[in-house]
Amino acid sequence: MPPIRLETEAVHAGRHTDPTTGAVVPPIHLTTTFERAPDNQLLGPYLYGRQGNPTRDALEEALARLEGGPVALAFASGLAAATAVLQTLAPGDHVLLPDDVYSGVASLVPSLFGPWGVTVSSVDQSDPAQVAAALAARRTALVWLETPSNPSLRIADIAAITAMARAHGARSIVDNTWATPVLQRPLALGADAVLHSTTKYLGGHGDVTGGALVLREAGPWAERLREIQKLGGGVPSPFDCWLVLRGIRSLVARMRMHGENAALVAHFLAAHPKVERVHFPGLPSHPGHAVAAAQMAGFGGMLSFEVRGGREAALAVLSRLTLITRATSLGGTESLIEHRRTVEREDSPTPDNLLRLSVGLEHASDLIADLTEALG
Ligand SMILES: *Cc1c(COP(=O)(O)O)cnc(C)c1O
Repeated sequence: MPPIRLETEAVHAGRHTDPTTGAVVPPIHLTTTFERAPDNQLLGPYLYGRQGNPTRDALEEALARLEGGPVALAFASGLAAATAVLQTLAPGDHVLLPDDVYSGVASLVPSLFGPWGVTVSSVDQSDPAQVAAALAARRTALVWLETPSNPSLRIADIAAITAMARAHGARSIVDNTWATPVLQRPLALGADAVLHSTTKYLGGHGDVTGGALVLREAGPWAERLREIQKLGGGVPSPFDCWLVLRGIRSLVARMRMHGENAALVAHFLAAHPKVERVHFPGLPSHPGHAVAAAQMAGFGGMLSFEVRGGREAALAVLSRLTLITRATSLGGTESLIEHRRTVEREDSPTPDNLLRLSVGLEHASDLIADLTEALG
């Protein structure tokens, strides 16, 4: 058979016609336990819901195929997946984060793993020299990448940084939530693991919270993570697995339209006199444009922009929007906008006039009309 392309994988991966009913869409196995035969042998491959469930297996199979790794693990949230990775560290281990990492991860590492003895520092990973300097200064166990980053859309060179991590003897993980495997395949660029908040584009409809890891190889680290998934218990429900799997079926088509709309909105904002700066890697003026063009198949549906006049001006723009919804999160069908500093930790480096926009699947002209009114 010829190689299967991503579009086809997204539609079919993890889909097995139900042998008892012929159902084309796999059923949701809402059961917590699985029966034993009179001889005390299990009737099937499953024992108990936390340890495994057919719907979770189907989702994990699809995730593994999309990211191109042999092992995938589904979790109850993106941060549950991040927690599992950090739980593989030993006391004294050091983690290197991007300085604009997703704020939940920035809080999680010191708050939950500081008492555990894990140390953390951060650099601007859009400059690989800063990563090299950080790795030269101390022993690091885990290099955490997030690209494009949140909310300033900085671009890190995945191949360059994961190669440095490997040479240093550190593991590398890429938070691929914003790009999705449609636009970026970090395992092929050298990462040891990919993390997703499936709450975002993979679920795609703003109706399910979930997370996932996909690993570059099976082996002791994968086995340890599987143990943490089962014993830590941060597992998704069968219904949530099914919703994420359903979202994945249309992922490629959605990402194309998110990307087309975001490019149109970004160009509109870049030309608007009330806008000081637009952060979107698809703009040739973006400092990460060349790296993004090389390592991504498109620039995605996320952007942020700085409103001229500071915090009050930015909040006034928000207040005048009537179509674009004021809410946190991203990756759903509806466009969402947020004053990012409102939800980030106090010492966040995010400018106070920055609005983050998750460009949805509405008609781009309607989004631009709403922004035109709001910017005045
Ligand atoms: C939302 C998000 C997370 C956290 O995921 P949850 O599902 O909310 O736990 C992690 N990384 C990025 C880039 C995100 O956008």
